[in-house]
Amino acid sequence: MEETELIVLGGGIHGVGVAQAAAAAGYRVRLLEKTALAAGTSSRSTKLIHGGLRYLESGQIHLVRKNLKERELLLKLAPDLIQRKTFYIPLYENSSRQPLTIRLGLWAYDLLTGSTKAPSSSRLSRSDWDRLPGLQTRGLKAVFSYSDAQTDDTALTRAVMQSARQLGAKLCCPATFTSADIFDDHCRVRYRVGDVEKSIKCLAIVNAMGAWGINMANRTTPPLPDYPFECIEGTHIECPEAGLTDAYYVESPSDRRGVFILPWGARTLIGTTETPYLGDPDHLMPSQASIDYLQTIYQHYFPGHDATVLDAWAGLRVLPQSSSSPFNRPRETVISSNDPKNPRFLSILGGKLTGYRLTAADVVTQLQCVLPSRTAVADTAALTLTRADDEFIPD
Ligand SMILES: Cc1cc2nc3c(=O)[nH]c(=O)nc-3n(C[C@H](O)[C@H](O)[C@H](O)COP(=O)(O)OP(=O)(O)OC[C@H]3O[C@@H](n4cnc5c(N)ncnc54)[C@H](O)[C@@H]3O)c2cc1C
Repeated sequence: MEETELIVLGGGIHGVGVAQAAAAAGYRVRLLEKTALAAGTSSRSTKLIHGGLRYLESGQIHLVRKNLKERELLLKLAPDLIQRKTFYIPLYENSSRQPLTIRLGLWAYDLLTGSTKAPSSSRLSRSDWDRLPGLQTRGLKAVFSYSDAQTDDTALTRAVMQSARQLGAKLCCPATFTSADIFDDHCRVRYRVGDVEKSIKCLAIVNAMGAWGINMANRTTPPLPDYPFECIEGTHIECPEAGLTDAYYVESPSDRRGVFILPWGARTLIGTTETPYLGDPDHLMPSQASIDYLQTIYQHYFPGHDATVLDAWAGLRVLPQSSSSPFNRPRETVISSNDPKNPRFLSILGGKLTGYRLTAADVVTQLQCVLPSRTAVADTAALTLTRADDEFIPD
């Protein structure tokens, strides 16, 4: 039987992040991905590398600070994949948030960034409103600007896998995980490549299957309990390019949620929604209601723009089960272990694209008690990330 030290299930941002961190720590690691790198949520995000301004409203200060620091680091590590972006927040006579609330939020955001390199937020003077072509000015009371960063999530995921491979990590794709046996001193993973069933022995397994990895019932021996998490659909629409160079963070007039409107290649990207999803993640499609909701918001704020929907796609957030609105639920990543004293099977639940590197480092630290002691060969905080070649041939 084949052998390795660590098996990672899923080639989204978390899986590739763990592969990179484990290889950097000196371990033999193999990643199994069933479709393609970033085929899941990691190609369906809003593509922001950000602290998450809105999480300040729900008091998630630790998360915001951590992600802002990571944003600054990733801007240095991946300059051709991540760029700073200016965001505008327009406030109208009927907006639910007052200028003082936004001012205080942005002040805290600047402070938590802790970097002098990031441009600080400001309130635009009325004469500067001309810089915002197409924005509805009827009822406009104030406009604030702040800085965050934008990436290409698929390209970032591929770049991290490329870095992992340069450190010796192996990629099996397409390879579909089917089941695992967890013993006291090792594990066995079964997976399928086409019609061929394969099996590999390892010391530990990391479940980074995102929405596909919440329910592990019947997939492991001994069985793991279902995780108390659920999937929340987030849709984006793409409309024709409209001359936007900066991004907007606006309030949905119907339910007051925050929605982004931003330039994306030769298009305008508008998202997102948050609707509980109970179906099979493989069959996720953006609902017509979500598409209409986003198109209406775009038309409301940019009445002169062409709001034809050229494309629409959806991804799944993994959030803790709760009766509260998804918008206000905690966004911290949870790392769940089969046994804290002998962690052979770890699951990554939830999380952000932005925080992938820290999550991966946490996972590798937690696994060190079941892995042999090794000298690190690299530090992921110092590894430059570059766009991967189009030809990405699995090992
Ligand atoms: C709408 C939306 C917008 C978001 N916007 C942002 C944002 O702007 N910034 C930010 O920081 N975060 C954002 N996030 C969060 C972020 O995108 C996710 O946390 C992150 O992409 C999740 O990555 P993952 O690796 O856990 O899961 P995924 O990317 O879903 O990866 C899981 C992988 O597992 C594979 N897989 C499934 N089953 C198997 C199997 N049996 N065997 C092998 N492989 C399997 C899948 O094919 C998939 O590639 C957003 C999330 C959503 C839903």
